[in-house]
Amino acid sequence: MITSPAFAGKRYAVLGLARSGVATVEALLASGARVTAWDADEAKRNALQAPSLQGRGWGGASLEDERPDELPHPPTPSPEGKGELLFADPMEIDLAGYDAVIVSPGVPLNRHPIVAHAHKARVPIIGDIELFAQARGDLPAHRVIGITGTNGKSTTTALLHHILETAGIPTLMGGNIGLPILSRDPLSEGGVYVLELSSYQIDLTCTLDCDVAVLTNITPDHLDRYDGFEGYAASKARLFAMQSEGHAAVVDAWSEAEYAVLDDAPDGLGFMLSDEVAIGDQANWPALQGPHNAQNVRCAVATCRILGLEEEAIEQGLRTYPGLPHRMERVAEKDGVLFVNDSKATNATATAPALAAYPLIHWILGGVPKTDDLDDCAPHFDHVLKGYTIGDAGPMFARILKEAGKPVEESGTLEAAVRAAAAHAKPGEVVMLSPACASFDQFSDYEARGRAFRDAVAGL
Ligand code: ADP
Repeated sequence: MITSPAFAGKRYAVLGLARSGVATVEALLASGARVTAWDADEAKRNALQAPSLQGRGWGGASLEDERPDELPHPPTPSPEGKGELLFADPMEIDLAGYDAVIVSPGVPLNRHPIVAHAHKARVPIIGDIELFAQARGDLPAHRVIGITGTNGKSTTTALLHHILETAGIPTLMGGNIGLPILSRDPLSEGGVYVLELSSYQIDLTCTLDCDVAVLTNITPDHLDRYDGFEGYAASKARLFAMQSEGHAAVVDAWSEAEYAVLDDAPDGLGFMLSDEVAIGDQANWPALQGPHNAQNVRCAVATCRILGLEEEAIEQGLRTYPGLPHRMERVAEKDGVLFVNDSKATNATATAPALAAYPLIHWILGGVPKTDDLDDCAPHFDHVLKGYTIGDAGPMFARILKEAGKPVEESGTLEAAVRAAAAHAKPGEVVMLSPACASFDQFSDYEARGRAFRDAVAGL
């Protein structure tokens, strides 16, 4: 766990007790902080009081006087007198005197009442990445890479982490991917923390000075949480504004909006434009096919060069990168037919590069649509041998494909689509789930949809 004497004796409210909230409470308590924790879900609050957490130096009762009348849980007693934990809804208490309110990135800062409540008490609202930033001074000498962008964050983060690991450099990945960063043990000296940072996480961070900050790309997204595209782009720009002289930025810089993220960056920040970075032969990297992955590779390679890695070590990492589940994941090859799970492609922009990556595709698509067209995918329709539609968007997508002169089967379910596509596919062809839709009409999430695809392929 990452702890810091900087938190000792300070007072924090932690709102939201999912994985990262629990890790935050644990790390703060172990650092000797006074924590008021809350989640509207009683089960989550109870889980935090589970016997397994007792005796770790938690608890304390000194905040008794500040408890609201109906406090549902008494403070946890501390056998060692280290840290203090009590449960109260931060909305219900006076936050004056608190050092920060810590929320999860899922809390919409543009509409949640905690924002006005905290501002009134002049208490900053931060996330676990900011706590990590504040704890950095107590960690062994290390470097931090921060990766943001609309698409390709997870891939670039996992790829960079893999290249570093393959090169024998102590590294871990966190942020929007993997385990909560505060739950991890600090890296030994010379380690590299690779953080995937959504714009929501950047909004909750104010002092993270990345040694290298990376922008994969920006296209309009999450506009429900921002004041238009400019507001969204400004959130990304803050990652670079937090950097200091002598550190470096890697920016795709394909569009003006991407280049503009450097507008508020400090003088003396080095930068590399990733679209100008020379890379080797993509054919040698099986899990990194498609133009979008070439973009991700350029970002990762640029960062590795800034970190001083040898070209041979970089190439070795690219060759052996295993890929992430549900992102153009090669799940099986049967009778010469390759089955690819790209369930994470939840919009047409994300599906387009997957279609570009293979020339002969049996394409399974559909679910809850984000748009009423497939315009982003249309330039690659010549790669589609046949479409197999599923879910709510099925009839609409079938009509679009037919109008484009493509054969289509309205399969309805994923299982039927896999069976039909496998029956039609010939050696050398690809059966790919790249739905261009959210999954919620038929699955709990994109991961469940990807697992269902794998199961259906295994059952052929
Ligand atoms: P993120 O973490 O930003 O959501 P992922 O690496 O998980 O990105 O990829 C999500 C989806 O976006 C995948 O379906 C993938 O095919 C597509 N994708 C990945 N990298 C890029 C990129 N650089 N540009 C456009 N789409 C991409």
